[in-house]
Amino acid sequence: MIPLSRSMIYLSPPHMTGEEQQYLNEAFASNWIAPVGPNVDAFEQEIAELVGVNGALAVSSGTSAIHLALSLLDIKKGDTVFCSTLTFVASANPILYQGAEPVFIDSDPDSWNMSPKALMKAFQESALKRKLPKAVMVVNLYGQSAKMDEILLICDQYGVPLIEDAAESLGTTYQGKASGSFGKFGIYSFNGNKIITTSGGGMLVSNDEAALERARFLASQARDQATHYQHSVMGYNYRLSNLLAGVGRGQLRVLGDRVAARRKIFDVYYSNLSDLPGIHFMSELENTAMNRWLTTLTIDEKVSGVTTEQLLTAFYRERIEARPVWKPLHLQPLFKGARFYAHERSHDVAEELFRTGICLPSGSSLTEEEQLRVIQCVRKVFDQPIRNRSYLFPGKQEV
Ligand SMILES: *Cc1c(COP(=O)(O)O)cnc(C)c1O
Repeated sequence: MIPLSRSMIYLSPPHMTGEEQQYLNEAFASNWIAPVGPNVDAFEQEIAELVGVNGALAVSSGTSAIHLALSLLDIKKGDTVFCSTLTFVASANPILYQGAEPVFIDSDPDSWNMSPKALMKAFQESALKRKLPKAVMVVNLYGQSAKMDEILLICDQYGVPLIEDAAESLGTTYQGKASGSFGKFGIYSFNGNKIITTSGGGMLVSNDEAALERARFLASQARDQATHYQHSVMGYNYRLSNLLAGVGRGQLRVLGDRVAARRKIFDVYYSNLSDLPGIHFMSELENTAMNRWLTTLTIDEKVSGVTTEQLLTAFYRERIEARPVWKPLHLQPLFKGARFYAHERSHDVAEELFRTGICLPSGSSLTEEEQLRVIQCVRKVFDQPIRNRSYLFPGKQEV
């Protein structure tokens, strides 16, 4: 029987612990509302320690952290930046803010992230033209790290700095090292849909403390040392408020639990859906422990007879929020005419992932009942509804 009013199931809603309030209360009690303040300092230190870098700068969004990284590398008009194509537009918009040109790099079929093969090709061609990119922007989608060892090797070979957009991969480790700590700069996002949230916010991390000092200066209106307001360069207003940093500190304490919850959600989807024809879950790279920010899968329509649109329509009717995989940036009207390097000649992996991929509701507060609804919905579309006593929660009795 269908309940009369089913509540909406969201893709990845904020998940508060209640302990965030304590940090907010402290900030109110001491009137450290703004600007900056002790929560900001502590939040930066806590993140830097957690991911194993020398320093961190708390900012108002992941996008502003990316913008600062590009500013620090002096990226400007006439420069190019190699950027993953399969990503949210925020990875590349700051390249445009700087007046530079993005060149898009295809995905690797194993990781869904930047293809080392396509990157190599882009570098080889740019070396021939004697115009190397000023930076490479690699994105770690859905909590999966890119093949960082191969990508770093290529960047080092050409002496080009790497920026790691780890907005979706806080809590992931790659070869035992925190995702986001591999490049010259790494960025995290604490937007409402991310694994932990400050309602809105971001972090720039680096081992280069002098560069972070410069970022701190740029992020607070680039005010020169003087008693009056003096400015020699253009700055931004990008700092995170002390209140929001307090929320972040409360959230950071449970990051491990959040990763465990999302990994478990993945396991349950996997146990209950992987038998369906034509379904392939994004697999975890070797030597990687993903945060499984979102559970993502592809559907091979030829095998399953089911399209992603059919599934999305069914979800919509059942009040379940699910999403297609990011639309590749080289296919976006905004980036019309931008150069693109495919993984293989005549095999655009990112476009294929966009066409066949789906993200399932994966919030760490998703209940078993809600997840059952999602699973039921998928299985109905595949015309293989759950039979009695066949729904599996790993480590539990069948229900
Ligand atoms: C969320 C996200 C961003 C942007 O972060 P904001 O904090 O929303 O500005 C950048 N890149 C990727 C891959 C993201 O998912």
